Amino acid sequence: MPLLLILVLLLTSCGSPAPTGNNPPSTTSPYQALEERFGLELRPLQAQEAHFPWWFPLAVTYTPVNHASEILEAFSPAQLEAELEKYPQNFFRHLKLRGIYWGRGVESGLFTWRLAVGGVGFNIQGERLVILNLPEMPQAQPLPAHTLHHEIFHTLDSQVESPWASCNPADNVYGLQPAETIGREFDYPSPGFVSSYARTEAREDRAEVFAMMMTNPTYAQLLNHWQIGDVYLRCKQEQVVQQLKATVANFDQAHLNWVGLGLKGDALTQAKTAPEQITTLQVQGYNPTGSYQPAQPDSHHPQPFILPDRIGQLLGLQTLILERTDYTELPASVASLSQLHTLILEGQRFSRFPTPLLLLKQLEHLSLRNSGLKQIPVEVLTLPQLRQLDIRENPLSEQTRQLLRREAPKQGITLQE
Ligand SMILES: [Zn+2]
Repeated sequence: MPLLLILVLLLTSCGSPAPTGNNPPSTTSPYQALEERFGLELRPLQAQEAHFPWWFPLAVTYTPVNHASEILEAFSPAQLEAELEKYPQNFFRHLKLRGIYWGRGVESGLFTWRLAVGGVGFNIQGERLVILNLPEMPQAQPLPAHTLHHEIFHTLDSQVESPWASCNPADNVYGLQPAETIGREFDYPSPGFVSSYARTEAREDRAEVFAMMMTNPTYAQLLNHWQIGDVYLRCKQEQVVQQLKATVANFDQAHLNWVGLGLKGDALTQAKTAPEQITTLQVQGYNPTGSYQPAQPDSHHPQPFILPDRIGQLLGLQTLILERTDYTELPASVASLSQLHTLILEGQRFSRFPTPLLLLKQLEHLSLRNSGLKQIPVEVLTLPQLRQLDIRENPLSEQTRQLLRREAPKQGITLQE
């Protein structure tokens, strides 16, 4: 058992270290409403966890968090809710995940084998729990959502290795990567691997594929894009989905497709049966609080990078907000959103004006702010219901700007420039 435990512990831990403190813990959770809704504990680790499984003290060391409120800086209830809402209803009750717990200076492993980790997800003897490391400075942990989904996958991962090995390049050898690659974002270091960390071990590989599908719509679409020419990744995504479906039948590719479009919570549930009843969709790219830097096309920023076609299934959509999603084009199916009255496209990197929106006859508010547009056709002013047009922070020619400035008032349109 100890050898097996060592193996399991090593295989399930990952992340980066954080400094420690030494004060008594609080036992109250700022996440009580979420605990009841999702059916799992969400709180700081206490100094002694008497009700945890026997192996827990052997598996993890940590320093208790002083106050539950400290977690809020790293992961607010709203942020945590947004991530947990991407899972099927009652998923965590089905999984029997005991909870998600935070500690400081979390290390995982046995005796001198211990490794500092950003998080750890356990499934030992049917006991499932997730421990997340709370960094001293919240900004020192850039990827809390990535880590969360990664660790959750560890708690349900029970795959035997042979079918997974068949997904890999023939010459693949998993091995420890340099420590500085651990915890990094999805960098697609070579065919078949979404991140450098995925190359360390098959379990980490699977958890990284899953995290890429769940963490952010932009990542989900990047994965879809990468696997067009990468049979290894395609095979791996299929196997990860098989595991999800084995856990809860409705955690299938259709569910993940909607998550990848940016849906969560009630809208996600609704999308599976009546997508035309969804009225609002707001999607943020993977760096919602940081400044946006337009990038050149490369393996991480492919051209074209098109908003998924299935947006056209949301026929009742009235408000669509895309912020810093990295999409370069809108699909033709956008034209079928005949109820859309508000379209906010901010911080995009459109390669050209998205012409499908010229067919949105109900559109009243349109923002194209900071979207890299060099041209905006004057036809946009002929949209019959349009009242507000925001074209700020685009590299428009002076000629285009003047034309819009002159024509907008004639159509009763307020131009923000
Ligand atoms: Zn891991």
